[in-house]
Amino acid sequence: MSVESLLVKDHPFYQGLHRGRLLYLRCDTCARALPYGAGLCPHCPESTIGWEPSAGRGEVRARATYHRSYREDLPAPYNVVIVQLDEGPRLLGRLSVEADSIMAGARVRAQIDNEELLFVAE
Ligand SMILES: [Zn+2]
Repeated sequence: MSVESLLVKDHPFYQGLHRGRLLYLRCDTCARALPYGAGLCPHCPESTIGWEPSAGRGEVRARATYHRSYREDLPAPYNVVIVQLDEGPRLLGRLSVEADSIMAGARVRAQIDNEELLFVAE
């Protein structure tokens, strides 16, 4: 296992996926949802932020088909979507094969399969 893989597996987001939960960042003071990668809350920079479970539902904001494979176990073509979670943050995920016809504006829900995040039709 590479060093990069170990670092990713240690990240709270991936630890959540390991437990079958999709997590997002939230400010401990004002409870606003924060973008993935945020280091602090722009409204209360003195506050701490933490990971919270998401209901895993949201709307497709953009979709793309990858015609190049970046992983041996994931042959191209496959579809990738940017989903805006109902809690607010946006994230990137793969669209399930069964949800192939989904376009921007469609409702989806997260499905965690073997520690991998997929989006399926709601
Ligand atoms: Zn805040």
